[in-house]
Amino acid sequence: MTPARPLRTAAWYPGRVTGNQHVTQLLAAERAATVERLAGLERERAAIIESSGSAATDDEHDPEGATIAFERQHLAALISQARGQLAQIDAAMARLAAGSYGRCESCGRPIGAARLAARPATAVCIDCAG
Ligand SMILES: [Zn+2]
Repeated sequence: MTPARPLRTAAWYPGRVTGNQHVTQLLAAERAATVERLAGLERERAAIIESSGSAATDDEHDPEGATIAFERQHLAALISQARGQLAQIDAAMARLAAGSYGRCESCGRPIGAARLAARPATAVCIDCAG
């Protein structure tokens, strides 16, 4: 994936249906990165499960076992976080296609440009996010 330079036009602002191409690219790039991260995490988790399964560790007496259990929990948390992010990105892409992107889902007002730039997949404005 090549990071294409967004075409910035002076007329662009969040909520505008036309001229959102760089948002599409931004979301696509973020989605690709998240999918990649998710795949990496799942590989890591599979490797831990595989290694802990074959070693048949005793969790109670083996400090290694406790570490593995913690590691698995940590990975599970990261995986569900990445999945949530992916769902958010997909929802943002759907809003973009529907023409409602950049509008707060909670209060209906436009989401600030700075917030959208920092979190392109966000569905709510800064006031509603609190
Ligand atoms: Zn709002």
